[in-house]
Amino acid sequence: MDGAPIEDGAVRVHQDRIVEVGKFSELSALPATVAAKDEVVNLGEHILLPGLINAHCHLDYTCLRGRIPHQNSFADWIRGINAEKAELTPRDYLRSIADGFGEARRFGTTSIVNLEAFPELIAQLLPTRLRIWWCAEFIDVNPPVKPAMQAARLSRQTIGEIVSEALRNLKSIPYNRGGIGLAPHAPFTVSAELYRTCEKIVARDGYLFTTHIAESREEMEMFCEQSGPLFEFLKSLGRPMDDCGANTPLAAFLEKLDPPRSEAGSRAGPSRTGSVNRHCHRLLIAHLNELAESDFDLLAKLPQAPSIAHCPRSHAYFRHRPFVFERLNALGLNICLGTDSLASNTDLSLFAEMREFRRVYARVPAEKILALVTVNAAKAIQAEDFLGRIHPGYQADMIAIPASFETASAYESIINFTGDVPWIMIGGEQA
Ligand SMILES: [Zn+2]
Repeated sequence: MDGAPIEDGAVRVHQDRIVEVGKFSELSALPATVAAKDEVVNLGEHILLPGLINAHCHLDYTCLRGRIPHQNSFADWIRGINAEKAELTPRDYLRSIADGFGEARRFGTTSIVNLEAFPELIAQLLPTRLRIWWCAEFIDVNPPVKPAMQAARLSRQTIGEIVSEALRNLKSIPYNRGGIGLAPHAPFTVSAELYRTCEKIVARDGYLFTTHIAESREEMEMFCEQSGPLFEFLKSLGRPMDDCGANTPLAAFLEKLDPPRSEAGSRAGPSRTGSVNRHCHRLLIAHLNELAESDFDLLAKLPQAPSIAHCPRSHAYFRHRPFVFERLNALGLNICLGTDSLASNTDLSLFAEMREFRRVYARVPAEKILALVTVNAAKAIQAEDFLGRIHPGYQADMIAIPASFETASAYESIINFTGDVPWIMIGGEQA
């Protein structure tokens, strides 16, 4: 992802970093004393590429693979996952996350944006070499559609206390090669107060900020028309529905961040994009499947283009309408790929996500598709200066797959690759 593929290529790694890249024969000679201590790993006929980055995932639900069949209604799917979650214990979640680590690693994923509903459990996990961006996920629809153990807490603590406690838990993870972030779930499950609390902290401390927007037709129907299965479902839970009507999910999200002036109690002041100005370069939106024409105007007006995590196989599972890749790409949005959770997908392979993406967008060159899980995904987590490329100064996160001579290019071989990735290095350590 840093120029054309290099035949007989070699990478010199020192400690956790890449220090030199070129043909093996052209790498600079080291002084004899250093060279004697240098270890040479000969991978043979393999393609070496950057470790893959999963921009959207919920490892909590790795154990729900195959448990929820496709539902015609998104609201029914939510009912389905809530019923499954009600049966899970903290031990199940810990096992799920650890299994997810193993599976992601097997498929050559070295970094994961993981939306974590149980930050308080993470300290009990064995350390992983993977780089995880732990993003505390919050829902405060009333009554909370959270597992019981969290519902009780939500009623006792203020929103600020809940967010602070989650952050304390994430910061106390002893060995974290990735980063942390906040993930208020979605405009249909998050209040304006919760969104604003998270946004303020993100603007102040520079964490990753990610949220689901406009995933389903029912979410659009709910916000635009005050009707539909999701509207009825959330209304029946007691959620205040006064943010619905004449709004799209994207507009509802922006309005929650920057309320109309009358609500804020001031007639003067910045427009709705004021807050978006502050945080948008750190905003990673999952999905964005449902967009009205007015949403494209809103996106075009944002001072900093957000990143979009598109989840091709989860998209196919839900049978959403086609993701408008070309239009969003043309607007300058940074598009990357994620697997989403295994409650709506079959495994954590980003190779399979690239293949599904190509099935739908056959004209996008293979090199651009690989960028969605390397350079673009690195940019989405503000790691473009040290992840996603094999480049001097970057972290030595690399994977190797057997070279195939049957395809036109190395990029084609990569997208066609199936199976376990045989060689992986994270931060200079072979993992
Ligand atoms: Zn998700």
